[in-house]
Amino acid sequence: MEEIGVSGEQPERIAILTTGGTIAMQQDGATGGAVPMLGATDFRSALPADLPELYAEELVNLPSSHFTLETVRQIRERVAVLVERSDVAGVVVTHGTDTLEETAYLLDVTVPGDKPLVLTGAMRTASDVGYEGYANLAAAVRVAAAPQARGWGGVVVLNDEIHAARYVTKIHTLSPATFQSPAWGPVGRVEGNRVIVGQRPERRVLPWRGLEPRVALLKLTVGVEADLLEAAGERGVRGIVIEGLGGGRVPPWWIPVIERTMAQGVWVVIASRCPAGWVWDAYGYPGGYRTLNELGCLFAEGLNGQKARIKLMVTLAAADSAADVIELWRSA
Ligand code: ASP
Repeated sequence: MEEIGVSGEQPERIAILTTGGTIAMQQDGATGGAVPMLGATDFRSALPADLPELYAEELVNLPSSHFTLETVRQIRERVAVLVERSDVAGVVVTHGTDTLEETAYLLDVTVPGDKPLVLTGAMRTASDVGYEGYANLAAAVRVAAAPQARGWGGVVVLNDEIHAARYVTKIHTLSPATFQSPAWGPVGRVEGNRVIVGQRPERRVLPWRGLEPRVALLKLTVGVEADLLEAAGERGVRGIVIEGLGGGRVPPWWIPVIERTMAQGVWVVIASRCPAGWVWDAYGYPGGYRTLNELGCLFAEGLNGQKARIKLMVTLAAADSAADVIELWRSA
């Protein structure tokens, strides 16, 4: 563990937890591509002097596509410890952008308290012209220290925008403006050294007993057979999130397979493959909201498929009974 910038005089400081990602990457002669290299000390020394007192440590230094559920669990556990400290006002996690939204949402939905939980990253490496990592990190620290960000829970700060963990998603493979909240827009902005609040994201926290790993995510496409759903059921999953069509609809031939899968004790959550919007419709034909509700499916509401999967993993690990699953799911 690397500890830097610690001052006994400052009662409250911002804790930075580094985990790798492009924000930590530089061109590497041996591999011919960018790999994670920058650590906590590099970040600290690059930040402007007018920021609050900082404490920084490295948890891992990996591309986020290499994270396992255990890595994500460790990030959550470490953040939960850091926010408990009376000398920490807020936490910033530097993270690869590929899976950043899932970690952001996990922190949002499981780490209690009103200290800001801020995730940031970069789309360009430190060897690229226009590397935006230090600017994003400085903005993230300002948000973590802002009294007006207290109670926001998990937020993602990149490109001077602040997005609620619940609604943000990575929408572009390369653009520095990749993080957007298609349904709601940003909840605030960082302008210079000022943090401007636009809206207050809603936040609900679930009890934490870890992540149930046996949860699958399936995406529906036109005319697709239900064999993948069948196969997932046969492999002993405990939960399946289906990214349905439009408002969460499935083809009629999926209905008996969903019914059979649920009869085996598998929880089925319906999300939408649309980038924005709730799962609901008023249709009378088979496969719409009415059918799936009658089958006992849970609904992702405004969560996208990958975040609904995280929520189902948290819910299944925390629940002691079927009634618990339903109650917990609907409570957050
Ligand atoms: N490959 C990177 C990752 O670790 C992408 C990024 O950080 O932008 O997710």
